[in-house]
Amino acid sequence: MDFSFDIRHASSDSLARVGTITTPHGQIQTPAFIPVGTKATVKSVLPEAMADLGAQALLANAYHLYLQPGTDIIDEAGGLSEFMNWPGPTFTDSGGFQVLSLGVGFKKVLAMDSKTFRADDVIADNKARLAHVDDEGVTFKSHLDGSIHRFTPEISMQVQHQIGADIIFAFDECTTLHNTRGYQEQAIDRTHAWALRCLDEHRKLSEERKINPYQALFGVIQGAQYEDLRKKAASDLGQMQSSGIKFDGFGIGGAMDKEALGTIITWVNEVLPEDKPKHLLGIGAPEDLFVGVENGIDTFDCVLASRIARTSAVYTMEGRFNLSNSRFKRDFTAIDDECDCYTCTHYTRAYMHHVFRSKEIIAATLATIHNERFIVRLVDQMRQALLDGNFIDMKADFLGRYKHRSGQSRD
Ligand SMILES: [Zn+2]
Repeated sequence: MDFSFDIRHASSDSLARVGTITTPHGQIQTPAFIPVGTKATVKSVLPEAMADLGAQALLANAYHLYLQPGTDIIDEAGGLSEFMNWPGPTFTDSGGFQVLSLGVGFKKVLAMDSKTFRADDVIADNKARLAHVDDEGVTFKSHLDGSIHRFTPEISMQVQHQIGADIIFAFDECTTLHNTRGYQEQAIDRTHAWALRCLDEHRKLSEERKINPYQALFGVIQGAQYEDLRKKAASDLGQMQSSGIKFDGFGIGGAMDKEALGTIITWVNEVLPEDKPKHLLGIGAPEDLFVGVENGIDTFDCVLASRIARTSAVYTMEGRFNLSNSRFKRDFTAIDDECDCYTCTHYTRAYMHHVFRSKEIIAATLATIHNERFIVRLVDQMRQALLDGNFIDMKADFLGRYKHRSGQSRD
């Protein structure tokens, strides 16, 4: 067995804990933020720079890699880690979220601010949708060329085995906050049935491909904003066993209002087996990371840090701002004078302002390095605070200064 999770320290007054995930490609000290390299690259940043900024693992997306370059090519290359020149641990998302969001064509349906979307837009009867869900799987149109594809639990497992990440996720139906209660119930039943099929297919593929490193399979907990559905999903998947195996860990996914985030995570984590790692899918805004850690989340992934960096938005201890703003034209200070990243120790806001305004490629690279370092380090600091017993003070201190509230993001 090349996969394990050891809890080194558990908080006495919350679900928070500090641990170590061991994979065939190395260890992850948790809680940890896992930067996203959607198509087997963190856009504009070298893997060496990701390691230098403290990234312990990277997460890529099965849906994107399946469409391009094709997962057989990654398999031939020797797996994701080898293919992308990242020697550390890797994760892949199952593709469930992507086929149902990119495919559906409502890229923002899972945004945490539910007020901006009308219910009808989202649940309009497959009419304007590019994805169709049935009990067997999902048929969807590629967002690249409109070609028709089908994902089932079995195909998602095959695709993720070909990619070969250390931690992979069961294929789930990801709903939105606007689906009716009845639909959420159906989706939970479907996700349950798909989870069983994922365990079976995963067991079969692990046998057939024994020569490859062990891949840990995480079940995904859905149930939107409903306490009974979330708890049922956690109880069912937490105990689920098929073909003689259980899930190695769990992902918490789906629609969550920002205000309900902590409550939902608590419902789920109080029910799931304590000794398994818990991953919060697609959430990575600074204030949300505190809520996750406090309620027992071990790992996070989110594309937000790099996506906003490319639009010149950067995180600092005082909040988030845009480097393109003309007030930075003659600002010869670092983006964040408390940050130890390559960008902050070598460049000024004035330089960053210049490269963004002149559309130089290096702007994306430098801003991404800073943002990823900021988030990775923030979670590292939470881990240290838990060990030192001052997490609550550290959280109050950070949130007292930090001024921007932002949403979740997956892609
Ligand atoms: Zn920095």
